[in-house]
Amino acid sequence: MRQILELCIQMGQLAQQAYGVMSSHCTNEELTDTFQQMAAEEGANVAWWSDLLEAWEQGLLPDLVNDTDDLVGRFTDVRDELEAVLPDALKDLTDHEMLATAARIEFYLIDPIFGEIVDLTEPGRAEGMHEAYSAHLQRLIGAIEEHYEEQSLASFLARILNRTWRDNMALAVCATRDPLTGIYNRRALDTHLRQWSAWSARYGRPLGVALVDIDLFKNLNDTRGHTFGDTALRAVAAALTSAVRSSDMLVRYGGDEFAVIAPEAEPGEFAILLQRMVESVRAIDLRDAEDRRVPISVSAGGAVAVDPPASLPRSPDRLLAAADQSLYAAKQSGRDRISAPVILGSP
Ligand code: GH3
Ligand code: MG
Repeated sequence: MRQILELCIQMGQLAQQAYGVMSSHCTNEELTDTFQQMAAEEGANVAWWSDLLEAWEQGLLPDLVNDTDDLVGRFTDVRDELEAVLPDALKDLTDHEMLATAARIEFYLIDPIFGEIVDLTEPGRAEGMHEAYSAHLQRLIGAIEEHYEEQSLASFLARILNRTWRDNMALAVCATRDPLTGIYNRRALDTHLRQWSAWSARYGRPLGVALVDIDLFKNLNDTRGHTFGDTALRAVAAALTSAVRSSDMLVRYGGDEFAVIAPEAEPGEFAILLQRMVESVRAIDLRDAEDRRVPISVSAGGAVAVDPPASLPRSPDRLLAAADQSLYAAKQSGRDRISAPVILGSP
């Protein structure tokens, strides 16, 4: 983990230095500003990775990567390639050559590997990092488009750079979203639950996991058809989205089952969240072809881990198994209701 973070810091520093030199030696005033801003953004990036390294050294950052060697190998390759494209005499380049060099730097830094590690390191903050990087890239692309002819090689590369970044982001979305409902999928849950389990255990903070399952959904499909079933699934996903807090993560866990990761939810608050979800689905105004209202309901259960700080991550499987038991109890006791969440560990 240390090596990975150190490599990220080194790459950020290389880019920061390069943009620093370019900003003080380019002749165009606007470009000076652009490079200055890009250097500052790389500086912020370096600070972010350095904070993570410090947290890791203090034992505050869990090891989230299983195959560290593979990742170190991939990062080392990117670092070496990045070093190789930086000419010794950056300051002697023309403005155009500087922009072309900047495009080369960013070609290495859009490697999806960075997105992957950002997604793993700090729950809930990845989106901000992606947005900041996107703005950084747009700044460069804007500058290239302004200073080069549209037919030039640099402009062409800038467009490819932009497209590659967009495609990378789109692929990342595909990998983590459920196509029918647009909410996160189980793959995203596996990653994020692992992270939150580690972070919440480290700081002794509560962590809730809810499971919500549509009642007698098979009947609905059988009597009204699969397409109507799909519409109902989308409506339930939308209702649940409005019921959870912005810091919660809602996922489609399986066919007609949804899961919610609720960080920082005390048991009382968590039970209220479960109730809110059941009520939000009850309130859905689902209509059939004859405009008759079709009632729909869910059952919800969950588990909250409240153990004191520990060096070992809480087991995501243990949380999910306890939540499943709780959901089963809600189904058994009549459906369209919640069951008391299972509390794991002593507060
Ligand atoms: P219970 O109240 O016990 O949960 O009963 P249920 O009928 O909901 O339970 P069951 O697990 O038997 O049914 C789930 C149904 O969900 C079966 C499956 O055909 C349907 N399903 C799963 N995925 C989809 C989907 O993407 N679209 C549609 N329309 N139906 C789906
Ligand atoms: Mg069901």
